[in-house]
Amino acid sequence: MRGFEIVRPTTIERAIELLESGDPGVRPFSGGTAIMQMMKTGMFVPERLVSLAGLSKEHSAISVDGEGGMKIGAMATLSTLERNDLVQTCFPVLARTMKRLANVRVRNVATVGGALSHGDPHMDLPPVLAALDAIAILRGPSGSREVPVADLYTGYYETVLEPGELVAEVVIPPSDGASAIYRKTTSRTADDWPMVGVAASLRLSGSRISSARVIVSAATAKLQRITAAEDVLTGQGPSREVFADAARVASAHSDVIDDAHGSSVYKSALVEIEVRRGLRDAFEGETAE
Ligand SMILES: Cc1cc2nc3c(=O)[nH]c(=O)nc-3n(C[C@H](O)[C@H](O)[C@H](O)COP(=O)(O)OP(=O)(O)OC[C@H]3O[C@@H](n4cnc5c(N)ncnc54)[C@H](O)[C@@H]3O)c2cc1C
Repeated sequence: MRGFEIVRPTTIERAIELLESGDPGVRPFSGGTAIMQMMKTGMFVPERLVSLAGLSKEHSAISVDGEGGMKIGAMATLSTLERNDLVQTCFPVLARTMKRLANVRVRNVATVGGALSHGDPHMDLPPVLAALDAIAILRGPSGSREVPVADLYTGYYETVLEPGELVAEVVIPPSDGASAIYRKTTSRTADDWPMVGVAASLRLSGSRISSARVIVSAATAKLQRITAAEDVLTGQGPSREVFADAARVASAHSDVIDDAHGSSVYKSALVEIEVRRGLRDAFEGETAE
C-alpha cells in the first residue's frame, strides 16, 4: 500500500477546509471500519485521511429536547446508540437495531456519521432513521443544509454529499406516539449484513392510521421509501388485510436487485413478507427485530 497522510483537525471548520479540494484521494475518516475495508481491497487509495476523531465531545453528544425530538452527533458510536438511556426511552427501535448490526468490536468504533455517509444499501441504520423521519444536518464549504435521511442516497454507494461536505448531526423529530420497527433478514448469521431490510412506522389517531412510513433497503440499490404503500395504509383502520395490501404494493414498487445475497425474485417475495410482518409488529408494538 502506498504511503498516505492522516490529519486530525480539532474543529469541524478545519476538517471541512482540509476536505474541500474534492480530491478523490482525500476523505474523512470516523470509525474507519468501512474505509479500511475499501483501502484493503484497493477500492480507495488514500493520499490523505482527515480523521474526525479529534473533534470535540459535542460532535458525539446525544440530547433530547422538551418535546421529545432527539439530536445525535455524527461521531456518536453505534454502541452508544445501543446503550444510551435517551435512545432506549425515546426511540427504542434504534437501540434494538444496533444489537444485530455487525459485532461489538465494529459497533464500538463505527459512528453514526460513517454509517450514514458510506452509501452501502445494506446498512441497517439509514432505513430506521428514514422511518423515523430523521434529518441529516450536513456541513460543508458552502455552509449547512438539512437533508431527510430518506433522500440522502442517489444510487449504489452514492449519496448527495458534495465534496468537503460532512454529516455533522442527525435530528429526529418527536415520535408523537408513532411505533417503529426494523426487520432484518440475513442469508447467513443473524448479525450478518441484511439481504432485506424493512423499516416501518405507524401512527394511529383514534382507530385510523394517521401516518405511515415504509422503507425498504438492502434488497434495493439504495434505500427506498415506498410512498405507494404508505398511501394504502393512511386513513385506514389497521387490519391484517390492509397490512397485506400495503405489503403487496411495497413489493411491487421496490426496485429489487440481484446480488450475492439472493435473486431479485426471492428478495421481492421476502420484501412482501417482511413488510406485512413489520406493519403487524409496529401495530402490536412488538420488538421482533
Ligand atoms: C465485519 C463488519 C461487519 C459489518 N456488518 C454490518 C451490518 O450487519 N450492518 C450494517 O449496517 N453495517 C455493517 N458493517 C458496516 C459498518 O456499519 C460500517 O463500516 C460503519 O457504520 C461505518 O462507520 P465508520 O464510522 O467506521 O465509517 P468510516 O469507515 O470512517 O467511513 C465510511 C465512509 O463514510 C465517510 N465518512 C465517515 N464519516 C463521515 C462523516 N461524518 N461525514 C461524511 N462522510 C463521512 C468516509 O469517508 C467513508 O467513505 C459491518 C462492518 C464490518 C467491518
